[in-house]
Amino acid sequence: MTRAQLNALRKNLEADAAALERELRSRDGIVIERAADTLDEVQNATARELEIQTLDVETGRLREVRAALRRMAEGTYGICVECEEEISEKRLNAVPWTARCIACQSRADAHRAAGDSYDEAA
Ligand SMILES: [Zn+2]
Repeated sequence: MTRAQLNALRKNLEADAAALERELRSRDGIVIERAADTLDEVQNATARELEIQTLDVETGRLREVRAALRRMAEGTYGICVECEEEISEKRLNAVPWTARCIACQSRADAHRAAGDSYDEAA
């Protein structure tokens, strides 16, 4: 991966992080507001659950994006955190925040699907 490609990916990741931070800040308000509204408690329970689920996903994504930016700063970006092989450029372009090569990611996903606890922050 060339320096220019890396810079382009970093710009994308920085933009992603900024967008997610904005999104999470605005969602925070919504969740708290809905949680405080006891009248529509039952009706809103499902919507709130969905909201919180989305919040979880976005929080996780933000953590991954920040970790990717950290790896860029450290010069370890593009190296799989599990097997230390290079992650393919195609994969990095599609999923620039990824920390794992496809093989290791599939294994991680399989672990998660099986209900094993898996260290996402790795
Ligand atoms: Zn790997």
